[in-house]
Amino acid sequence: MVEPLDKADLAARRFDTVLIANRGEIAARIQRACRELGLKTVAICSEADKQAPYGKTADSFLCIGPSNAASSYLNQDAILLAAHLTGAGAVHPGYGFLSENAAFSEAVEKAGLVFIGPEASSIATMGDKIAAKRAMILAGVPCVPGPDTSLPDDPASVERIAQEIGYPVIIKAAGGGGGRGMRVVPEAGQLHEAIALTREEARQAFGSPALYMEKFLQHPRHIEIQVLCDIHGNAIWLGHRDCSMQRRHQKVVEEAPAPGIPSETIKPVSMACVEACRQIGYRGVGTFEFLYENGAFYFIEMNTRLQVEHPVTEMTSGIDIVQAQIQVAQGLTLETAQGDVTCTGHSFECRINAEDPESFLPSAGTISDLALPEGPGIRVDTHIHAGYRVSPYYDSLIAKLIVHAPNRAEAMAEMRDALAATRIEGISTNLPLLRALFDDEGFVRGGTDIHYLEQWLKHRRAA
Ligand code: ADP
Repeated sequence: MVEPLDKADLAARRFDTVLIANRGEIAARIQRACRELGLKTVAICSEADKQAPYGKTADSFLCIGPSNAASSYLNQDAILLAAHLTGAGAVHPGYGFLSENAAFSEAVEKAGLVFIGPEASSIATMGDKIAAKRAMILAGVPCVPGPDTSLPDDPASVERIAQEIGYPVIIKAAGGGGGRGMRVVPEAGQLHEAIALTREEARQAFGSPALYMEKFLQHPRHIEIQVLCDIHGNAIWLGHRDCSMQRRHQKVVEEAPAPGIPSETIKPVSMACVEACRQIGYRGVGTFEFLYENGAFYFIEMNTRLQVEHPVTEMTSGIDIVQAQIQVAQGLTLETAQGDVTCTGHSFECRINAEDPESFLPSAGTISDLALPEGPGIRVDTHIHAGYRVSPYYDSLIAKLIVHAPNRAEAMAEMRDALAATRIEGISTNLPLLRALFDDEGFVRGGTDIHYLEQWLKHRRAA
């Protein structure tokens, strides 16, 4: 539950300068939101990003360390020092890097700055998948069948749990993330070995051997619900997204709303998400991720940060999520009530990656020339320009192409045109693949599961 803040606490949350602790398209996106709110910005960079265009448009621009992220974008002390030197009053972590690091949220607030994101305790709860599942069950959010406790050591008890759930099951590390620390167990004979392997991996990679078990769903879709909460106990949801088009657990295309899901199915789930936010005193933006199979929702995790795919929700809801996130961090009351949220039309986002469209190997180098689409209903979130050097050190996402139209078919047509009008020379990108995907019959129909893209790629290779 939210403790009411007194006037002095609230006053301490006001700031006029935001340090953006990130890089690439999201650093540019956050800077735009700050500027529109009349806030000053501090951009930071590693040595590899000294030429970043958002550095030139920021009020201050500091190089905080070498190219490897561990020494720069993940270096908490260097970021706090940069904030101190530039007089920043708040830190926006973007996504990735330190955005879901509870210790960083705490360190920022202890340094007397505002962390534009949830409290450390919320991040810690949601970062522990067992604790997250327990909090969700308490709030009435539907979860994947399986206990909300860690697996016991006793082999007979573990066998009993698996039997009760029914094979196939999945063993997951409580501290796992990024698609690691999970193992599917198709039948009883493989249970103990899978547990031993996952436990060892969890111990080494996540520092905790705690595991849990749940039903493995075979053909789910990935559906997520966007929430927005202030520090006064107000929480709303802004509709849903379908992010089932994935390769190796990485989303490639996202859309809002998720096609073919009746509102009477999603509404109670969304209300339960909002209730969960109120119960844990959540502040800021967040995303509840679900697997959806045979008309039912199953919670898998909550992301306690801004997401790459937030623009599709901005396009359909008309709400600037980044601006709202900054405003609630300042202690302002949510301007929008649930009854005022209306989602209209359909939006797609394509992630344009600097990678070989066949081998998926990252493609670094200089962009010699480029053309980006523009026009009504089209948005491009990017930091690249002709002459920009794509460095090999970071994620390969270089631009997001977003469209919005009155319905899904028109949005698809608009995306086809936008993709045709996009040209990026000098490096390889996944543009050919995205163009082919928007002509695929299954995708055009909608509602494909999370394995669809990988199977589609396999068929294309075989053809
Ligand atoms: P991470 O934090 O590593 O991203 P998630 O719990 O979000 O882990 O799961 C990542 C992916 O693994 C999901 O998007 C889904 O593809 C798959 N997955 C996770 N749990 C299940 C499950 N119970 N059944 C089927 N697939 C699952």
